[in-house]
Amino acid sequence: MYDLFVIGGGSGGVRGARWAAARGAKVALCEDDKMGGTCVVRGCIPKKLMSYAAHFPHDIETMEAYGWEKFSPKFDWSKSRKNRDKEIERLSGIYLNILKNNKVDFFPGRGRVLESKDGICTIQVGDQKIQAKNVLVATGGRATFPEGVEGVEHGITSNEIFHLPNFPKKLVVIGTGYIGLEFASIFHGLGSEVHVLCRKKYPLTGFDSDIQKFVYEQMQESGIHFHCETQVKVVEKVSEENLTLKLSNGSELTNVSQVLFATGRSPNTVNLFEDQLGLELNEWGAIEVDEYSKTNVPGIYAVGDVTDRMNLTPVALEEAMYVVENLFEGKSRAMTYENIATAVFSSPEVATCGLTEQEAIDRKIDFEVYQSNFRGLKYTLTELNTRTFMKMLVDKKSQKVIGLHMAGEDSGEMMQGLAVALKAGATKEQFDLTIGIHPTAAEEWTTMRTPRNS
Ligand code: FAD
Repeated sequence: MYDLFVIGGGSGGVRGARWAAARGAKVALCEDDKMGGTCVVRGCIPKKLMSYAAHFPHDIETMEAYGWEKFSPKFDWSKSRKNRDKEIERLSGIYLNILKNNKVDFFPGRGRVLESKDGICTIQVGDQKIQAKNVLVATGGRATFPEGVEGVEHGITSNEIFHLPNFPKKLVVIGTGYIGLEFASIFHGLGSEVHVLCRKKYPLTGFDSDIQKFVYEQMQESGIHFHCETQVKVVEKVSEENLTLKLSNGSELTNVSQVLFATGRSPNTVNLFEDQLGLELNEWGAIEVDEYSKTNVPGIYAVGDVTDRMNLTPVALEEAMYVVENLFEGKSRAMTYENIATAVFSSPEVATCGLTEQEAIDRKIDFEVYQSNFRGLKYTLTELNTRTFMKMLVDKKSQKVIGLHMAGEDSGEMMQGLAVALKAGATKEQFDLTIGIHPTAAEEWTTMRTPRNS
């Protein structure tokens, strides 16, 4: 009998298994694909590697103004893909080793929870039935295609984009959440002609409105073609890697090599639980949990994307660690989702922590805004208009900083440190009293003195 059985060998599952084993629990884990899950195999890591690859041409453009001779290196997609795949294999192996090194039993195959009775849960993996006192479900989510688009099957999702046999000369990205914008930026940087279809006026729904506008303008200026308030109706296959898209505004996009649907993800809960368990899912199929990641069925916990709370790797890790510490250390830790910093690895890179202006308005907070929009020192010798935007929201009454939003180089790296300040409840005065590091873009956070006229 196991103390904990984990379903899913991705971010949350592996962390939960390792954390529990390190606390003396007898643990097993099942995974029906490559170890490592979305983040390692088809998400954060391969994407960030591609993002690095995509940034070099911009550096080369910058070099000339500094006296370097102009040169035009060629990009080899298959070499880049091969090197990336090799690294993903290595990382996936490390995840498997984490289980071995922590004496977690591994069951390759698809897990399904059959029963939870008298403090014992029964899980099925292939032909085997396994018993455990507790189950941690960390099955993640999957990319989905939208409904109502004729010929949608000719498109791809983020899963396939990593493995394209040929480099797409012309790519259409449908959807302007973070995944869509990241791939649009990556393929533009690598040399594709990129078109982005955006249902709304601006991309990045849910982000601060000034960030949405800034990112839209900078991406457009860089040469990405946005088609806003436009949807795809039909994807027609003319021949292999030659598609025609019919759009809602009556226009067409022709000679398209690939269409990436970055339009949504669904939690992996299909067939995961025996009906008689009565495990509650929400209307989108995500597992309903409380703040301790407990489901309505005793002994069954769920973390990460399958619960659709905040679908990020570090969040899945933290949720898993909380469950384990509550179970095996007698703690009672509840997750909170305030002031979690996130980044979008588009160009410009976006990072944010805390409330957006709209969220502050919705919460009826009396706040003031400090913001700055500038061309970084690095670009002053060039013709490039590569800019940085920063925005700070301050609660007028408490003077606490309640929101930070940034778009520009190294936003993610910068925001991680700033998130500590927000978590610690820093005030505007404390930002002002902090001496800047000169000359950096980051020092701007300590020198914004005049609030915007509201
Ligand atoms: P996963 O990591 O998805 O793991 C779930 C695992 O469960 C999978 O391996 C799956 O095969 C397995 N599984 C499913 N069903 C079963 C079953 N019945 N039995 C056995 N195994 C099963 N997050 C960030 O923080 N930063 C980023 O930059 C970032 N970039 C991303 C880019 C892309 C393209 C995508 C798609 C996601 C990105 N994310 C990013 C999100 C991040 O990958 C997820 O939030 C994270 O992986 C969630 O972890 P998880 O443990 O919930 O699920």
